[in-house]
Amino acid sequence: MSPSLVALSAIGLFGLVYVVVPRVALLANRWWLAAECRRRRRIAVTFDDGPGPAMTPLVLERLTAAGVPATFFVLGHNVAGNEALLAQLHRAGHEVGSHGNLHAHHVWSLPWVGVLDTREGWRRLGDVLPSTTRPISFRPPYGKLNLISWWWARRRRAAIAMWTHDSQDTRVGRRCPPAAVAAAVRRSGGGVVLLHDFDRDGAAGTDDVLARLDAVLALRHEGYEFVRVSALLASEPKAASVTAVSAGECR
Ligand SMILES: [Zn+2]
Repeated sequence: MSPSLVALSAIGLFGLVYVVVPRVALLANRWWLAAECRRRRRIAVTFDDGPGPAMTPLVLERLTAAGVPATFFVLGHNVAGNEALLAQLHRAGHEVGSHGNLHAHHVWSLPWVGVLDTREGWRRLGDVLPSTTRPISFRPPYGKLNLISWWWARRRRAAIAMWTHDSQDTRVGRRCPPAAVAAAVRRSGGGVVLLHDFDRDGAAGTDDVLARLDAVLALRHEGYEFVRVSALLASEPKAASVTAVSAGECR
């Protein structure tokens, strides 16, 4: 084999490992997390990409009325100006986790960007959260890690948390109706539900998110226990401290 072919093969193999190792870890944890929710009939409602000065208070109202805790994975660049809102979430008993700083894609950006974005997101959030809220849970943007950011997060024993059911509140085109999202969670016997609390442009978008949230919250009348993600992660084997993604809940 020529030296150039050896070099190309080595680069290809590294590229495969760079993507596949964290992906397998995410999938393994997804299975574990889904099983944990099913075993204890638990639901964790989670919100990404916020806080939104208009949207998050509306979500908070719904959660308070239902008496349900949730987890908010906040972008670091949204922290400034929203300190009071974050404090309000914390005081209301919700968990505030990190979603990175600028929502960097860990696979489709330069190899070190994922680590830098994650570190900056934690730093900005850590500056406004009480020191008792450690470790700060983390959800990778787009549900992706690369080999470097995965290894880095493991070294820091990061409480990484993904989701098992996508509410499809950001999807365009054909989507599940809110009742179908709740039905998918019911069929699974519980799960970690992904929603988003960034501000929408129009009332229709806002109403759609709230309708999806209401549909999931209605499951509290069916005996499900609603928890923060840290309650699920507490019993997670440390070797697989990443939770993950599902697809096709609209079946
Ligand atoms: Zn996101």
